[in-house]
Amino acid sequence: MRVYDLKPHLGLFFILAVLLPSVILAMIGARAINREELYIARRYEAAISAEVRHAASLVSSELNKIEDDLSRSAPEYGDMAAKLRSWPSVQPLARIPFLLSNQNEVLWPTGNTPEEKEFLFWNMDFFANKAKVPDYQNIAQVYQEKIVSPPQKTQSQRTYAADQEFSVSSASQDSSYDRQMAQSRFDQYEPVREQVYAEAKKEGQRVETRNVLGRQALNEGSAKMAKGIAAQEDNRSLYISKRRKFKEITGANTQGIIPRFVDDKLSLIFWKKISGEKVVGCVLSMTQLRQRIIGVLPDIYSKVRLLTVLDQNGRPLISPLEDTKRDWRRPFASREVSELLPRWEVAAYLNDPAVISSQANFMSALLWGLIFILFASITIGGILILRAVNHEMALARQKTTFAANVSHELKTPLTSIRMFAEMLKEKRQADVQKQEQYLDHMVSETQRLTNLINNVLDFSRIGQGRKLYNMKSLDLAALCREVAENQRVGLESVGFKLELKVPGLPLMVKADSEALKQVLINLLSNAQKYYGEKKDIEVEAAADGAWACVSVKDRGIGVPVKHAKNIFKEFFRVDDALTSRVKGTGLGLTIARMIARDHGGDVVYMDREGGGSVFQLRLPGDI
Ligand code: ADP
Repeated sequence: MRVYDLKPHLGLFFILAVLLPSVILAMIGARAINREELYIARRYEAAISAEVRHAASLVSSELNKIEDDLSRSAPEYGDMAAKLRSWPSVQPLARIPFLLSNQNEVLWPTGNTPEEKEFLFWNMDFFANKAKVPDYQNIAQVYQEKIVSPPQKTQSQRTYAADQEFSVSSASQDSSYDRQMAQSRFDQYEPVREQVYAEAKKEGQRVETRNVLGRQALNEGSAKMAKGIAAQEDNRSLYISKRRKFKEITGANTQGIIPRFVDDKLSLIFWKKISGEKVVGCVLSMTQLRQRIIGVLPDIYSKVRLLTVLDQNGRPLISPLEDTKRDWRRPFASREVSELLPRWEVAAYLNDPAVISSQANFMSALLWGLIFILFASITIGGILILRAVNHEMALARQKTTFAANVSHELKTPLTSIRMFAEMLKEKRQADVQKQEQYLDHMVSETQRLTNLINNVLDFSRIGQGRKLYNMKSLDLAALCREVAENQRVGLESVGFKLELKVPGLPLMVKADSEALKQVLINLLSNAQKYYGEKKDIEVEAAADGAWACVSVKDRGIGVPVKHAKNIFKEFFRVDDALTSRVKGTGLGLTIARMIARDHGGDVVYMDREGGGSVFQLRLPGDI
């Protein structure tokens, strides 16, 4: 298959291999851009949620420390009355100390102050197991078994458990793994959550309501928002409660903290079993508690978000003064703190919610820009490559024709020279005049050959910049006359009329005479080759301002307008019936122009009025 046979398929190839993939690429890019806002929101959410989770675990472990601190400072023996009285000054967390007998009667306080009276009023019946209070529990822990049932474990987890079989801590590791698993499944999967809440309701548990719009809802919300569906608010708490008696809550434990809502005010009651089955305890100082919690919170402000803890009323424990208009109910990310602090939340708010959309817009603009550049460069690149390939293929085609033409051009004169030479040698022609004619033919054919070879050699020399010119001041008019007269015999022998219009005054130029002769011979030989009905050639030399010009005018077939620009290109030949009757190399005009330009001039083509062509050599005059 020759190279240029591929040409018709190239366009199709370009569309399939370049244009189509880039359109698909652009479409994929566009889809990705649409998801950009959601993606950025998710990224922020993931980072901020992690901070919130961390803060919640800090607060929760601080509550454990508080419990330990109270337990360590709680009086257990000796002069209990004195010790209970001084407990708050030893441990500021202890606000109203109390002591219960083994019958759960309140031995202390005695109700001397209004505060103590109020305490007794609210708690006496509860301690005596006559009244019940809500006992808060983490739903994911209570229904852990249901959430993480054994068949759902994967093979690798089972193997892991088997490896741990002989380890003492295997049971506890497994259960803490299950607890975490249960919590994350509960957080992440809507169906699991629904199922567990339904179960809790069936068991008579009360599902609390959160103070804020939950993280899960927000997460789904952003996904739904992206799909254009209104987000459903889910503010069910992780903590469920069931009313229980004091002894049911304490059970087999030795100490603990019970949260109680009294008149919508939260109070925490610390209790500890001591010797003689008595119970000592205190109401926690909420001011102290708040301070200890604030103390463990990590950086509250960052460039991006504000992180704080909301109390049971949804009010922040700590917030900047100017932050009065914020809707505390709608954090960007939040997490409930602990069953000891029902309705408390660790919540984070974006400083500038518009940051997500502006970042997304910036990213979109950037991506669109990149897609556009990519698309444009692929298309432009493709077109340029296509053009280059087309050009190369045209050149390859021209070179092939050139090779065929050159061999033909060489063969024809050689054959006729040989034929005449043989005839003369064998003395077959006795007529002296005829013999002269044969010799003339041989001379003109040799000239044609020389000219052809000169053209081919010059083409490669000029192309490689190796052509040397012997520049001298010379008279263009005289040179023109010399070349024309040399050609006259040849031309007139084939029926041409050559008219010379050369001025008597010299037209001085600085040039290489041999090179200029070749230009003129090329132009004259074209005028001869592309003849028309009238075989008239006119050679005119004249000054045109500072230029010295020679025009070779013919009445030949002329050059079609659309090819006028191309005839000077290497190997180019007009591709029509009139031209193709004559063989040529497509180099004559190329070389003529190259030589003229090397002399600071040019060769130009013009239509001739009344039909035919005018080729004009223009050179700067040498004054
Ligand atoms: P060649 O004559 O060997 O084909 P050229 O470079 O001399 O190569 O010419 C290039 C083309 O320009 C020719 O093939 C022909 O089509 C056109 N051409 C050149 N001179 C003339 C002319 N005097 N009249 C008409 N066409 C011409």
